[in-house]
Amino acid sequence: MVKKTVKKIIVGNWKMNPATSKEAEKLFTNIIKFLSVLKKTDVVVCSPYIYLDKLEKISKKISLGAQNTYAGDAGAFTGEVSAEMLGNIGIKYVILGHSERRAMGENNSDVNKKVKSALSSGLVPIVCIGENERDENHEYLNFVKTQTEECLDGISKNMIADVIIAYEPVWAVGNSAQRKATAEEFREMSIFIKKILSDKFGVKMVESLRIVYGGSVHPQNVLEFLGDGGADGMLVGRDSLDSHKFAEIVKITESFNK
Ligand code: PEP
Repeated sequence: MVKKTVKKIIVGNWKMNPATSKEAEKLFTNIIKFLSVLKKTDVVVCSPYIYLDKLEKISKKISLGAQNTYAGDAGAFTGEVSAEMLGNIGIKYVILGHSERRAMGENNSDVNKKVKSALSSGLVPIVCIGENERDENHEYLNFVKTQTEECLDGISKNMIADVIIAYEPVWAVGNSAQRKATAEEFREMSIFIKKILSDKFGVKMVESLRIVYGGSVHPQNVLEFLGDGGADGMLVGRDSLDSHKFAEIVKITESFNK
């Protein structure tokens, strides 16, 4: 499959941080300060819901994303936030199916409903997939295939290019990560996922779809994922809470293959 060049994307996932609105504004403002004009890289910060509206008014230089949404429309869904509400305050992206949400009980069918809801409200879903462990029998390949197919079930052909896939092996994510994936492991999975999607949606439709890597991304390992890994970008957890490190990851991506 010939790979079309697509714009790279760096997504920061702040998770349930920081504790105050002031800190959120400071972190966001500092990230922006460290970045010059970006031509080849989309940058997204996914903050807790509570800060999104305020951050959106600070700058349009980088985009904002939510870390979840609810699949239903307006109504009796106590505590939930719809994709439409997010779109109405200028939010462009939403992380769906993150392993930390799956650990709270979210399944592929829930993610699928949310993907559809996000797309119909004009949000770009960043769909997280990835196995919990790598077994010797390569069962993890079936696991990722099922996740990919079930999360994207019923998505129309012309909408698939609007979806971003984040391959995040659970064993590589967060403070309890065993290790990061290797660039080679990512490349294999990226080809595998593209094959699953092109069987379902056609080669042409997935040409411009972006597959990013997430799991212990730091400035020191970005280049190997972009280069040998062929990643279309990164989903960054811990280092997105450090404005220097996050900006460094963006700068490395922007100057990749200049
Ligand atoms: C994440 O939370 O999506 C993530 C990749 O975290 P970290 O970069 O901290 O491993």
